[in-house]
Amino acid sequence: MPYVPGSSAHGVVHVADVYHSPNVYANFVNIALWQDPQGSQAAVLQAINSPSYATESQVIELDGETDEAVIDQKQAALVAAGVITQADLTKGAIASATPANADTTPKVPADGTDPGAAAVGGEVDATILWNGPFDSVLTTQITVASVTKVPGVVFPYDVATVAVQNGMTVQDVCDNLKALVVNVWVPLKQHFPDAFMTCSFRKGGSNPTSQHPKGMACDIQYKGISKSEYYVRAQWVRDNIKFDQFLLEYKTTGTGLPWHHLSYNKAGSNRGQVFTFMNDKNCKGPGVVGLFDLANA
Ligand SMILES: [Zn+2]
Repeated sequence: MPYVPGSSAHGVVHVADVYHSPNVYANFVNIALWQDPQGSQAAVLQAINSPSYATESQVIELDGETDEAVIDQKQAALVAAGVITQADLTKGAIASATPANADTTPKVPADGTDPGAAAVGGEVDATILWNGPFDSVLTTQITVASVTKVPGVVFPYDVATVAVQNGMTVQDVCDNLKALVVNVWVPLKQHFPDAFMTCSFRKGGSNPTSQHPKGMACDIQYKGISKSEYYVRAQWVRDNIKFDQFLLEYKTTGTGLPWHHLSYNKAGSNRGQVFTFMNDKNCKGPGVVGLFDLANA
């Protein structure tokens, strides 16, 4: 059945909202689940090895890439492989030429707090990244599993095994995730309780500049907001979150929903870069800074 809120919205008592998984669809309709989705190591590994997962990974691999020549080359390959159409890429260019809104106010770069090393124990997934003080929004501990495998994380990756494949140590990835959670995820989630993380750490591909394979970046969406609202919220994020790179990202494929890509560098010297991307490419050309509302794409 389609997703129907469990509350008595509009004065009508609906069927119980058993579990609203924000990114589970059937025939493009967001659906409720009768049971809270459960993640297991076996299920995660099975998902990662599925063919459809591999296809989607090809697309998201470009996320965070800022080398235009590399993106052009990759997008041409994706068009040739049928992963994305040339028409979709063209739609992005048209919207970029006439954005609904624009705000090119620069970010004042600033470092946040260094939370120190993560206490990595025997089970990497159980490593605590945030432990309060709790509030009405963040009522549980945030662990490595919370940001890499729980329901809502579209692209789950096992830090214990994939960190080494990425040329990182498990400790370094966990430390980076901790700094990201403390400086970006927690303050953002406190301000926007409907935020959910769709991806953070992931397996490295051929994009050498991506911060995802280092555990330094995450992708964030919000339950039920409009495309334009992503632009409005991006202005708050730019002004209130300390980050290395912030991308307001749009796509014309799949769900068509935008997302916020945010990274943090625990070593300091966070650049405060702000770009708007359309289908994984800077919508206004190489190095053009600013927020552009492309909800009209
Ligand atoms: Zn990203």
